[in-house]
Amino acid sequence: MKQFKKITELKNIRGKRILVRVDFNVSIKKGKILDDFRIKKALPTIEYLKKKGAKIILISHLGDKGESLSLVSKKLKTYIAHIFVREVVGEKVLAQCSKMKNGEVLLLENLREHAGETKNDLTFSRALASLADIYVNDAFPVCHRAHASVVGVAKLLPSYAGFQLLREITELSRVMHAPKQPFLFLLGGAKFETKIPLIKKFLKKADFVFVGGALANNFFKETGYEVGRSLVDTKLFGLKKLTRADNLFLPVDVIVKTGRTHRVKLPEEVTKQDTIVDIGPMSVTLIELFIARAKMVLWNGPMGNYEEGFGVATEDILSMLAQSRARTIVGGGDTVALVEKLKIENRLSFVSTGGGATIDFLSDGSLPGIDALCR
Ligand code: ADP
Ligand code: MG
Repeated sequence: MKQFKKITELKNIRGKRILVRVDFNVSIKKGKILDDFRIKKALPTIEYLKKKGAKIILISHLGDKGESLSLVSKKLKTYIAHIFVREVVGEKVLAQCSKMKNGEVLLLENLREHAGETKNDLTFSRALASLADIYVNDAFPVCHRAHASVVGVAKLLPSYAGFQLLREITELSRVMHAPKQPFLFLLGGAKFETKIPLIKKFLKKADFVFVGGALANNFFKETGYEVGRSLVDTKLFGLKKLTRADNLFLPVDVIVKTGRTHRVKLPEEVTKQDTIVDIGPMSVTLIELFIARAKMVLWNGPMGNYEEGFGVATEDILSMLAQSRARTIVGGGDTVALVEKLKIENRLSFVSTGGGATIDFLSDGSLPGIDALCR
């Protein structure tokens, strides 16, 4: 692993302005934060810097469309006092930053309000860098993205890794270097474009790959089954070919919703009126058999539309993992929301704040955001 500096190597930071990239990209439904796991995991870094008398400027994104971080600020206030500035760069922000007191915390508005963030635009990176003396990255879940606040700024300021980022690297490196077999990879959720490439990668690494959630719908569709009103991506990912891999497993039954009722069906029984909302009980049993054999299980992405009440399969599987003696690694924003709900974090080997980042790290051994910290 390449060398980067750790937050604990920061010396004499009293009065220094430190730009801290956190990941407060929490799941929000109907104006409520579903879980604040990521916020809680950023606290050690913030508290450490605060104790040392630094001036802390927190930056984060939320969602893809640039929604306000105001709800996040409200939640963060229950843990740590701070000032929420409703802008990211510009006069007002500079003015606020220049009058900060030692130990004070600012939270800036959603980075993705600016197109320069995801484009890793140099002007935007410079504007961010101009706010501070030092940069700390504690945003593991976004380290697989070469964005301005992740990669761009790191090249412009003395840069350090925060506590949660360090913990993720340590825990996940352990998994990488000690692959335990049989290795079961469970993948669900709905981010087709980011997750389908992972299936290809992990078919080569894992003994069993089970694909559920909305991702499975695309497989059903491309193999010629009706998927009715289910969530699918219209792009073709060449999945039919993938289904020939003998370590790939799809749901053997699904829960479909038709109007107000829902019931179990075989994938081939789904009609135009149905919406696939979860994997069925036989599929859960199949996963139970895999878990019983596995020495290591990696899971990302819910198996069903849990926000609408179809989280039964996901919760059952999580409970099985909590009881399993295999090494269990779970990650992903929505997945972790359910881990929190069931209060089983300390019964799993490691709960990662990342989703895509966790899996990319495990398959590639590093991430653009981590490489950017290395000199
Ligand atoms: P994570 O954040 O854990 O990486 P994703 O963001 O990829 O996971 O996916 C989570 C989303 O997938 C949730 O909003 C969940 O409702 C949705 N989902 C899972 N299965 C289905 C399904 N069958 N139909 C619709 N949405 C689904
Ligand atoms: Mg998600």
